[in-house]
Amino acid sequence: METLMEMAKKGKAPEWLKDVAEYEGVELNLLIKLIAKGEVVVPRNIKNDDGFKPRAIGRLMKTKVNANVGTSIDYVNVDEEVEKAIVAQKYGADAVMDLSTAGDLDYIRRRIMDAVDVPFGTVPIYQSARMAKVVVDMDEDHFFKSVEKHAKDGVDFMTIHAGVNWTTVERLKKSRRLLGVVSRGGAIIIGWMLHNEKENPYYANFDYLLEILKEYDVTISLGDAFRPGCLHDASDRAKFAEFIVLGELVEKCREAGVQAIVEGPGHVPLDEIETSVKAMKFVTKNAPLYLLGPLVTDIAAGYDHIAGAIGAAVAGMAGADFICYVTPSEHLALPTVEDVKEGVIAAKIAAHAVDLIKEGQRERARQIDYMMSLARKKFDWETQFKLAIDPEKARSIWERRKSKSGACSMCGDLCAIKLVQRAFEGKDD
Ligand code: SF4
Repeated sequence: METLMEMAKKGKAPEWLKDVAEYEGVELNLLIKLIAKGEVVVPRNIKNDDGFKPRAIGRLMKTKVNANVGTSIDYVNVDEEVEKAIVAQKYGADAVMDLSTAGDLDYIRRRIMDAVDVPFGTVPIYQSARMAKVVVDMDEDHFFKSVEKHAKDGVDFMTIHAGVNWTTVERLKKSRRLLGVVSRGGAIIIGWMLHNEKENPYYANFDYLLEILKEYDVTISLGDAFRPGCLHDASDRAKFAEFIVLGELVEKCREAGVQAIVEGPGHVPLDEIETSVKAMKFVTKNAPLYLLGPLVTDIAAGYDHIAGAIGAAVAGMAGADFICYVTPSEHLALPTVEDVKEGVIAAKIAAHAVDLIKEGQRERARQIDYMMSLARKKFDWETQFKLAIDPEKARSIWERRKSKSGACSMCGDLCAIKLVQRAFEGKDD
């Protein structure tokens, strides 16, 4: 069986890719070329059927949003995690990842995957870590067993921290980080390497890893183990050392015909975001870039979805393609269903703001905003609600304090739009 990338390299495409091109508003041939070059990925496990909604991520495509759900050792409520996934998709998430670390991980993964029809991702090392009594006692097979299991189940993309190796760990030791490593997957692997005095199995056996992924046409999302966890650590040498390794691994993926995404930071001050994004794009030859936030301040606890959306907009402007949402619970607790909704909407606002200026998407995105402004001009509230990112919230706020004026109760009879329309009445004709 050929992977999508292998087909694209020959200038061919499966029938379903036409719908993807139409959804993105790009020519099919252009999409095929970008997939062949590795500048765009369309994650889709071969096991996924016709009900699946594939999404293209990368250059010229709409900026995409991912929502993470999943259990932790303190809260294992499968129904709630399924509800979070459904809510995330309802509010526009283009992908959902299951990051569960507790409970029956196979059952939870399958339940969440069945609940959504957008691309579904996992971080297999979390399940590998549960295969041994003590994390550092995992054997090398455990690293790959979970990858194989998830691929067989139909997972479309997987975060794998293959950029951690002895060289990057040495760089990390020399850096003067405040928070060290905040990537859960990265921490598991670094802990295992140091304890066992062995190379990261994902790095050492990368070709074998690619063989497993290739069999099911799973997209690899190369995890950013050294993503900075605070502004103090934002742009150190350890982070850039990992970027270089990730660039080398992207090249291997492309040679093998496996689609690859690259993950990035983290916590980054506004004026350093562009440098990070451009460096990653440069060393990976334009691989689709997937960022968590980045968060532009460390003090927004309770409002980190806003700090993340600000960073995502700036990162998108510099070339990031895929935004991992951040919820108001970030750094504090496992998110609730309501937190998931808030997080997705904040990330969607950032993604749309990027599309308003993004090559390939700008015109279509601007048309939506134009329609909204037209509806505002006409006081057409129903159209305004329909076009709003969160129609229910827009309607409920409007109804909560409705104005008798036909405008809204912010200015009522002194509505500026109405006053000037009246003043110009007849003069526009
Ligand atoms: S009342 Fe004020 S806020 Fe409301 S639509 Fe008119 S100008 Fe805008």
